Amino acid sequence: MVSTHSENSQQLIGLARRRAFELYLRSGRKPDAPLLAERKDIGSALAAAAADRGMPTSHYVWRTMLDDRVRRRHIEREGHVFARAEPPSGGPPGTEPNCRCWAEPYYGDPAIPDALQPLAHAYQTDTTGLAPWASIETLTRADGSIAHSVVLARDGTQIQSAFSGTLIARQITLATGEVVRVDTSGGVQSIYLGSDPRPLFQSAWTAHGPRVIRARRHLAFLGDEQTLIDPDVEGDPYASAREPYGIPILPNLGGLIALALVSLHSMLRAAPASQGLGEKDEPVLAIKAWAVNGNRQPVPVLVGSLTEEQLRQHCRFLPDVQNWTDDAAALLADKKPILPERTWGSLVHGVIKRTIDALKKSSPFIYDSLRPEISFAPNITGPVPYGRKGSTRLDVVEDRSEEEGVLCDYDVKTGREGLTVSRLKEIADRLSKSYPGITIYIIEVRPRL
Ligand SMILES: [Zn+2]
Repeated sequence: MVSTHSENSQQLIGLARRRAFELYLRSGRKPDAPLLAERKDIGSALAAAAADRGMPTSHYVWRTMLDDRVRRRHIEREGHVFARAEPPSGGPPGTEPNCRCWAEPYYGDPAIPDALQPLAHAYQTDTTGLAPWASIETLTRADGSIAHSVVLARDGTQIQSAFSGTLIARQITLATGEVVRVDTSGGVQSIYLGSDPRPLFQSAWTAHGPRVIRARRHLAFLGDEQTLIDPDVEGDPYASAREPYGIPILPNLGGLIALALVSLHSMLRAAPASQGLGEKDEPVLAIKAWAVNGNRQPVPVLVGSLTEEQLRQHCRFLPDVQNWTDDAAALLADKKPILPERTWGSLVHGVIKRTIDALKKSSPFIYDSLRPEISFAPNITGPVPYGRKGSTRLDVVEDRSEEEGVLCDYDVKTGREGLTVSRLKEIADRLSKSYPGITIYIIEVRPRL
């Protein structure tokens, strides 16, 4: 930055005022948070600047990989809150050479308790009928970060989220009344069923992606079609979850969890701001095989998003896959209106595959980890030839299983439908058989307009 601090502040304050005015025009009323004190002014202005850079919050927590490769100066910053507008020496996480640190969003200003903050209320409904959500209600702080949101999906699922500091508490109420809670705090994600205070499982972010740190036996496996009540628990731990709705015993716990996570994932994609995501955060579902009595059962180890820095660690070809998808769609744009949706989609997929094949031929070393259109069949370890009966074809896979213990499945979508429960289960089943112990990220890639 070349300009002086006061010049910046003036610019930022101007920007914040303009934003407040725009909000006034949109909502037809003055924002509840008046820009009064100078300090507040600057806070809001910084937030507006953060928003301009596509960041969801004005502050963040410095996170490190917590291993012995982290430089000492960054270890000292672990867990500390920084303002995005005032980066420490060397710049924000991920800037210095080989830095694997990342910025975890911090919701709210650590200097101002939420109770003392006026929150701006906004409510919008989708009138096009095309969005996967029907309505979105948000409460936003003066610093621009989101405090609460309630999103009603078109299928009747409701997602309520509260954001405070590093805690994100979500409650997913399915159309059938069942409740799944997903809490994320300090890099640890916990998934609960109903009002049961004990998590089904917990996972933490590590140098090798999210790792399961605690799991209740026989619970929450995606492929599990059975209902199994924890044998070491007296009584029915889900009674309170079912009580208001009078729903009989849960018929398919794995399916229930999968549906809740797919619904949340879909909203992270469709309405990222309401879910506290910035522009460069990438929604992901991560799964991993968990060995039970010699069988491998896929469990969801993360539903959320990866920051730009985390993606650079693990799914580094995402920007390329996105560009190839955009290029393929642009190349075939004139055919789109005249072809059935599926046919056009296959053509786009074909162009992406040919692009990757050509790159692998010219630069085999660089593109070594990329596998376009790779097929897997049930109960067979490793890829199978395309077209085998019952096989599942994945669009683009980035295989970093050897070096990083992770694998990225780029699911290219050209139609309106996103990731479904059946597709998730299929991918989870096939890949967990072939890649035991590997973190598998599922990332949806769509052509940008
Ligand atoms: Zn670092």
